[in-house]
Amino acid sequence: MHQQRVNKALNIGGYATVILGIGWAIFFAFKQLWLLSVLDVLLTFVGLWVLLLAKKGHTRAAAYLLLVSMLVIANIMCLFLDIPSPAAPRSIHHYFLVLAALSALIFQDEKKWLKFGIPALFMLNYFFYASAPFGIVTQYALPDSIRLVGTWLNNAVALGLVFTILYIMLSNIDVPSQIEQDLRHAIQYNQLELYYQPQVDKHGIIWGAEALLRWHHPTRGLVPPNEFIPLAEQTGLILPIGDWVLKAGCAQLAAWAKKPELSHLSLSLNVSAEQFHQPDFVNQTILIADKIGANKLKLELTESSLVKDIESIINKMGVLKAAGIGFALDDFGTGYSSLNYLKRLPLDVLKIDKSFVLDVLTDENDAAIATTITTLGNSLGLKVVAEGVETKEQRAFLIENGCSSFQGYLFSPPLPIAAFESFLINHHVKVAA
Ligand code: C2E
Ligand code: MG
Ligand code: MG
Repeated sequence: MHQQRVNKALNIGGYATVILGIGWAIFFAFKQLWLLSVLDVLLTFVGLWVLLLAKKGHTRAAAYLLLVSMLVIANIMCLFLDIPSPAAPRSIHHYFLVLAALSALIFQDEKKWLKFGIPALFMLNYFFYASAPFGIVTQYALPDSIRLVGTWLNNAVALGLVFTILYIMLSNIDVPSQIEQDLRHAIQYNQLELYYQPQVDKHGIIWGAEALLRWHHPTRGLVPPNEFIPLAEQTGLILPIGDWVLKAGCAQLAAWAKKPELSHLSLSLNVSAEQFHQPDFVNQTILIADKIGANKLKLELTESSLVKDIESIINKMGVLKAAGIGFALDDFGTGYSSLNYLKRLPLDVLKIDKSFVLDVLTDENDAAIATTITTLGNSLGLKVVAEGVETKEQRAFLIENGCSSFQGYLFSPPLPIAAFESFLINHHVKVAA
């Protein structure tokens, strides 16, 4: 987002420089003020160079070129050309405000001396020229007749540019990023894949799996969901992606149903709030799931998806539940579920978020939360699954406190389907032995 803002600001800076440069170069050429015309041609070239650098992705070089050359050119103009008189005030110095705003935007994420120092430098220039009628009178000083017109024009353009930069700073720019454009093609180009992570009971038996989405990006390689699901949710792309996940997950369940050694497995699919709130979500899901016998399918909703419109969620869950589809409440403990609603949700599984499991042995608060969630889940008759279990000690602690199922690197990371199936078969052999 920041990069997009900087690019947009540099483009506006570049175009403004080109337009102002060409305009004044022509004007001064008509007036036969050749030196000034050449100075404005130079300005035009600076603008074009900035645009070219920004287009090639050399953002930093474009920013330095624009800011440094404008600092020099604006100072020359203020000192030698735009000398205030009682008839016409100075106006070029207002561009220092534009440069201050522009540099604040560009260096927003940089070290303090850049972030605050560069805007302060431009403001100092502004302060100097705004406070004193200072200037060096030479034959190039512009006459009041020209400067009077220039005052209106420069003030309007400079304020317009400050406003535009503020607008860019404060708004979400609606330009699709490269990654968003790529994500739009992910389904079409077959770049999505489900990985499977086993869910294990306290005797080590694998009873299910969670499907976790991966994106094979042509240049970035394997992209984890945390890097693209939030973007997909913001842009609405989660709807076709979620649909793909549902179909791919159900197809996998159908394939397992035909293999006796895998037919007992249930499969959990993550569902985003946006997806669940779609008016046709229930019908579509039942339609897809019915073909495979829905009773092995579970949908994972996060606590945060229960924030909006809880009554409608409870109704929808009820209809899906009646069709045989199960529910898990994911990342439990990280959101704000009201316990009152919890008892009304037709849940099968409560998942303890991995952030509590991570430090369950070292942090008393995490241990207390994990234990409380387990007790709560057990007393509501739910299966409690701890996610992110990485060590035997964590597993032992959780078992001791009543947790019955686990998911985590201790057993296996999420795996592509072939690796998952062979892991499962080897694991069965180990458990049986
Ligand atoms: P989640 O549903 O809570 O999934 C658990 C995450 O924990 C997964 O991250 C998994 O790889 C990771 N994990 C599993 N075991 C361990 C462990 O022992 N230690 C640690 N540190 N991490 C472990 P992943 O695959 O990167 O997925 C991140 C999140 O992306 C998921 O969190 C889920 O919210 C979302 N997501 C994944 N697939 C989908 C999808 O198909 N649809 C939607 N809407 N969201 C998805
Ligand atoms: Mg999940
Ligand atoms: Mg989770």
